[in-house]
Amino acid sequence: MRLILLGPPGAGKGTQAKVLCGQWGIPQISTGDMLRDAKKAGTLLGVQAADYMNRGLLVPDDVVIGLVDERLMQPDALKGFLLDGFPRTVPQAEALDDLLKKRGLAIDAVVQLSVPTDLLMERAVLRRTDKRTGQIYHLKYNPPPLGAELEHRADDQPETVRKRLDEYEAMTAALLPFYEAKRLLRRVDGTLPPSDVTREILRVLGQQA
Ligand code: ADP
Ligand code: AMP
Repeated sequence: MRLILLGPPGAGKGTQAKVLCGQWGIPQISTGDMLRDAKKAGTLLGVQAADYMNRGLLVPDDVVIGLVDERLMQPDALKGFLLDGFPRTVPQAEALDDLLKKRGLAIDAVVQLSVPTDLLMERAVLRRTDKRTGQIYHLKYNPPPLGAELEHRADDQPETVRKRLDEYEAMTAALLPFYEAKRLLRRVDGTLPPSDVTREILRVLGQQA
């Protein structure tokens, strides 16, 4: 399975990616996680990316395309992968097509998680992540257990989330017609409870829950 999860910030891509990848035994390739790791490690890439991320802007295409190209060459990606947060622009989607084509591969499906904008703000601002396990929680919808070591993402402050939502509309929403034209797009209601979203994703992919 070579799948793309598409949707605005807070739509539930990371939450679903963890469940699906656990079930299918394929890697979750999250450019957001990769960039945050680089930022934490203090690499040059991380320092440069942080400047964009902290302002809620997209990191330049060539940077993320390079990251994904390298990641897809790892042996664990041979059996399939789930892309979470990539591509985010049409040039990224075209570059992905090209680099898969070179390897004789193609994307099987693109699942769009749709959630109205007013819910997205609350989803992002109350998101917390356990820094030891990477597990994603929500202070209202999926409260963390006692003892979790919670992190609040620097870009999950209301002003930055607003900017990220604008970036989604300006840059990423164009991917919907792009994949629709390729007949790869499947839409799922992301406002359902997480386990129902998972079931719907499996259903639109023609798989048993
Ligand atoms: P994304 O990766 O698309 O930015 P996340 O998976 O990190 O989104 O989810 C954003 C926030 O919303 C998290 O706090 C998560 O716990 C919560 N969340 C995810 N899916 C749902 C859902 N179906 N219903 C309610 N809250 C959800
Ligand atoms: P995410 O974890 O997917 O919400 O991404 C967090 C931030 O990382 C984004 O707001 C961007 O600054 C950056 N980022 C992640 N993926 C990409 C991408 N595909 N293209 C450009 N910037 C990205």
